[in-house]
Amino acid sequence: MNPSPQTVVVDGLGLAQEIRKELGETVAAHLAAGRRAPCLAVVLVGDDPASASYIKGKRRACKRIGMESVERTLPGTASQDDILAVVDELNRNDGVDGILVQLPLPEAVSPHAVAEAVLPAKDVDGLHPLNAGHLLHGQPCHVPCTPAGILEILRRFEIPLEGANAVVIGRSAIVGKPVSLLLQQQNATVTMCHSRTRDLAGLCREADILVAAVGVPRLVKGDWVKPGAAVIDVGVTSVAGELVGDVDTEGVQGHAKIVTPHRRGVGPMTITMLLGNTVTAYEDSLA
Ligand code: NAP
Repeated sequence: MNPSPQTVVVDGLGLAQEIRKELGETVAAHLAAGRRAPCLAVVLVGDDPASASYIKGKRRACKRIGMESVERTLPGTASQDDILAVVDELNRNDGVDGILVQLPLPEAVSPHAVAEAVLPAKDVDGLHPLNAGHLLHGQPCHVPCTPAGILEILRRFEIPLEGANAVVIGRSAIVGKPVSLLLQQQNATVTMCHSRTRDLAGLCREADILVAAVGVPRLVKGDWVKPGAAVIDVGVTSVAGELVGDVDTEGVQGHAKIVTPHRRGVGPMTITMLLGNTVTAYEDSLA
């Protein structure tokens, strides 16, 4: 074993702020040219406090880079048709560039039906099947924000992807699958793991890049990490009122080259990619 003596804990917030500054300059240039600001619409159904807090963060992030944001709030009793009617109104609104329907939705509402209702061009969350299909085919599309943020972290830390062994724990449509595709498109050799995977620890020990998107607190131990690996902790779970990641961040110190902390790691990059996708949708609409 030749452990990396110094593990860099990624400052995701600092990185996010750098990118937001660049996005702010792009927006300012459009305004200076006499054009309107890009606009993100967020749909919130019900009164889940975590969702309300995420939406507040998104509103603040839009404002800070000079973007507009609008919100449509529906009660938790709203039907699928009520939600689809709001999405339809936003689809038709030429002043809206991106639409995000905050998850989770009430149990009686199909998240697939809602994702399919959003115009692909305004689907800045990258959840519409058309965008997912384009991603599969390696075509330009709106990429889901958390996977896009992960790739950006790896790019900015100059982590070599070509030929690297990447292990992704988790196979959700929103994180695990798209990040696996993106890593494979960069010529990494990707192993996708899930709850039925045998010898998870052994597979992780082979990983040059390890992405944990599980939701199991501190699943990834220090001795699961290959010396010099890049470790991305996506998980956020509330344990006794405290937020905990999927990675034992202290345990991987001295093993990993870089590790993202569960707070101020991937999260701020996710919101930043949402802003970036909205600016792209806006610029596409000008073309
Ligand atoms: P999800 O849909 O619940 O998927 C979890 C995945 O983990 C599933 O594929 C599941 O396997 C797998 N899994 C569960 N237990 C496992 C175990 N013991 N060993 C190996 N794999 C296991 O979750 P998600 O939406 O992808 O989110 C994952 C985590 O990331 C959550 O904590 C979420 O809060 C967090 N998250 C954070 C951000 C951010 O911006 N920071 C964004 C999105 C999500 P099966 O498929 O076999 O069930």
